[in-house]
Amino acid sequence: MSPHPAGVSDAQWRDWTWQMRERIRTAESLSRWVSPTADEREAIERLGDRFHFVITPYYAALMDPDDPQCPIRRQVVPRLAELDDPSGVADPLDEVAHSPVKNVIRVYPDRIAFCVNNECALYCRFCLRKRMVGDLEWVMKKRELEDGLDWIRRNPEIRDVLLTGGDPLTFGDEKLDWLLGELRSIEHVEIVRIGSRLPVTLPFRVTDSLCRVLERHPPIWLHTHFNHPREITPEAAEACDRLLRAGVPVGNQSVLLRGINDDVATMKALCEGLVRIRVRPYYCYQAQLLEGTAHFRVPIEDGIALFRALRGRTSGFAIPLYVLDTPHGKVPLVHPHVIGREGDCVIVETYEGLCWRERNPRPEGTRR
Ligand code: SF4
Repeated sequence: MSPHPAGVSDAQWRDWTWQMRERIRTAESLSRWVSPTADEREAIERLGDRFHFVITPYYAALMDPDDPQCPIRRQVVPRLAELDDPSGVADPLDEVAHSPVKNVIRVYPDRIAFCVNNECALYCRFCLRKRMVGDLEWVMKKRELEDGLDWIRRNPEIRDVLLTGGDPLTFGDEKLDWLLGELRSIEHVEIVRIGSRLPVTLPFRVTDSLCRVLERHPPIWLHTHFNHPREITPEAAEACDRLLRAGVPVGNQSVLLRGINDDVATMKALCEGLVRIRVRPYYCYQAQLLEGTAHFRVPIEDGIALFRALRGRTSGFAIPLYVLDTPHGKVPLVHPHVIGREGDCVIVETYEGLCWRERNPRPEGTRR
């Protein structure tokens, strides 16, 4: 019997190009993995022209075939709830207005996000860039990539470039090697970061050959995107391990999603699972006011309470910073542990909710 639900050999299953070719795009092909509900079937039909429905066989195999509330399934299978979002907008971060040239997004003085492609292995229903991912209009032609590189060359204050998309690792090794080589040849670019969900959605993409490309252009940092502890599979752990051995530090940026990871036990299991595979939880994003995602959003106060509850109850470095991204940069959303000053003391709140008075006199002459 084949070890894989798709009925293929192990070598084929682990071939990332096979996984890309065999992606699920219809309710019929989805039904080989789960029993789609009437809601899911209708949503696939009605939402097809708004946002792509594509899933890798690898990720589909993680879904619970019998539970429509499965946290893996909910991330990628459309729901009719996506049609019921009066407040969502297409580009909540105003990224188009922040682009001096196509797909170069500048919010901060010293760093940019460069959306080098528009393709992903699969399409997440909550994707911040659903306005562009998978859309032909946003494909980056070689000339357009060169325009972005030229813009970076002409702006010497840019020291940090985040390659994102879409997913830059859906490029073949050769194209990625060229792009990284071009960036590395720009003296003022100190670090290159890659944002990629492939270690989670298609870990077989992290081949030895890809790792050799990444190794050639240090320092490269990689931000991946695990949202639920069930995504931390042996295959995903191996992919992260290969990246780490290639000298690429791996961090995680999750999104707080209602019914998926917005309870303390799940978030704790996610964060602890990540540090066990040596992936540092970096940010957890508040879900944006993005079209078709009202059913995923969590009130900010609830998010703050969730991360407040984790403090002191797991390793400090396992707790990501909960942030709200805005058109003017990221804003930390944190519980205020500093209560205030009383004379020579600063009053703080400990993780158990106790008040602690820390003697902290102001030196003579310092401003209040
Ligand atoms: S992998 Fe990232 S860019 Fe691609 S659809 Fe998912 S969230 Fe969007």
